[in-house]
Amino acid sequence: MTTVTKDLFLNTLLCSTFGWRLANGKIPKELSPTTLFRMEEGKEIGRRARALFPEGVFIWETEHVIAARRTTEYLRESSCSVIFEGTFLFENYIARADILTRAADDYGWDLIEVKSSVNQKTEFIDDMAYTTLIARESGFSPNAIKLMLVDRNYRLGMEPHMLFQIIDCTTEVMARVDEFTPYLPEIRSLISQPIEPAPTLSYKCKNCDQFQVCFGKDIDCPIFIIPRLQQKKADEMIEKGIVCVLDIPDDYPLSVNQKRIVECVKCGRVRVDPGIRKMLQEIQWPAFYLDFETTMTALPLYPGIGPYEIILTQYSIHFCDQCGCVHTHREYIANPKLDCRRELAERLIEDLAGEGSIITYSSFEKTVIGALARIFPDLEEPLSQILDRIVDLEKFVHRLDHPGFQGKTSIKVVLPVMVPDLSYEGLEIANGDLAKVRFAMMAREMIHEHEWEETCVALLEYCKMDTLAMVRLHEALERMVNSE
Ligand code: SF4
Repeated sequence: MTTVTKDLFLNTLLCSTFGWRLANGKIPKELSPTTLFRMEEGKEIGRRARALFPEGVFIWETEHVIAARRTTEYLRESSCSVIFEGTFLFENYIARADILTRAADDYGWDLIEVKSSVNQKTEFIDDMAYTTLIARESGFSPNAIKLMLVDRNYRLGMEPHMLFQIIDCTTEVMARVDEFTPYLPEIRSLISQPIEPAPTLSYKCKNCDQFQVCFGKDIDCPIFIIPRLQQKKADEMIEKGIVCVLDIPDDYPLSVNQKRIVECVKCGRVRVDPGIRKMLQEIQWPAFYLDFETTMTALPLYPGIGPYEIILTQYSIHFCDQCGCVHTHREYIANPKLDCRRELAERLIEDLAGEGSIITYSSFEKTVIGALARIFPDLEEPLSQILDRIVDLEKFVHRLDHPGFQGKTSIKVVLPVMVPDLSYEGLEIANGDLAKVRFAMMAREMIHEHEWEETCVALLEYCKMDTLAMVRLHEALERMVNSE
């Protein structure tokens, strides 16, 4: 019989088809480098949390029955006050508690879940509810259920306990335990049935990574491509049998923006907002195309930086005399061993000196420069001048409805439609998340120093590609508008 873990239980609760596929090995388990890095970070946070309880005993046993027996023995031992990875078994359900601590009055135990996050999330309550439920069904009821989160005020050099904040979640978790309890028999039988349960389309499918091999394979333009589609509206459409944008009646109540996208997909025609022409004319030449890469980690990389604080690590600038004519390219990448934000800010000011628009894609660069100005008040004036010159190219794309965009405006979606001969394919680093992780891996020395040069070249190539993509996209927009 399949062992049901927390992950399997919670996923099956959300979607029985997904859960069945997970239980029956139909979902590939290959993890991206980004996920692997985040998992490593999670393990390190777990290690640091356990280090705060030097008296703790670890349940090392991997075999479930032996681990559960060992846990019971420790729970009964009066000299034992802290257990790590305490294991609970109920029928074929298994749960492991990160930390169990004997309550101060010596009566009962508290259950602590450690998370490498600075924010409390609903899914954490679900995680704790599952563990509590299986513990309770196996005969162990914790007194209190607590969440141990990373404290965003922590800085390198502080006392180890200051890395964490503890939140008592007992009431919320117990309410969720009551909701979960009736599903125990149902989920067990669902995942062990020989045939995959028929999928049911609902809002949950919107972000499901199985969508393309599940419902997505038969639906060309699913309703989920409609921007800002709320659950209520999606449920209402599905109930009426509308699953594809092409099936949406012309008079269906949608926001103005949603209607525009739906009409564009339905008629398959490009629509250019006349206002885009004026926006393009307002760009001051020569112009600078600017893109940043950043990193962020649970444990700060440098002094004075908080957990998950965004650290600017590199930039790329394409300098153009006029639209499509690249004059020069400038770039910067930080030394992973040091906090180089000051040097980067100074170089950025130099490299963007002069007049002319600074073109970005999204408001991210603006936000990061605003943060730099707060960190280095003496640079506030030149950084503010940069802010005043920024023009967001994505806002131009918002005024362009193209059936190929499928309601999205991210450069990774727009570029292949507008500039099909330019692609991120073949780049060693081809997305921002991987860039974040690779830089952090160098800073953490998870990438050996003799490979840094190669990694930095890949990072620079990726960032350069982002600004070149903007140059070419801008050129394509100009062409499109002028041919109208
Ligand atoms: S696409 Fe929907 S039905 Fe299919 S596995 Fe995902 S959540 Fe379940």
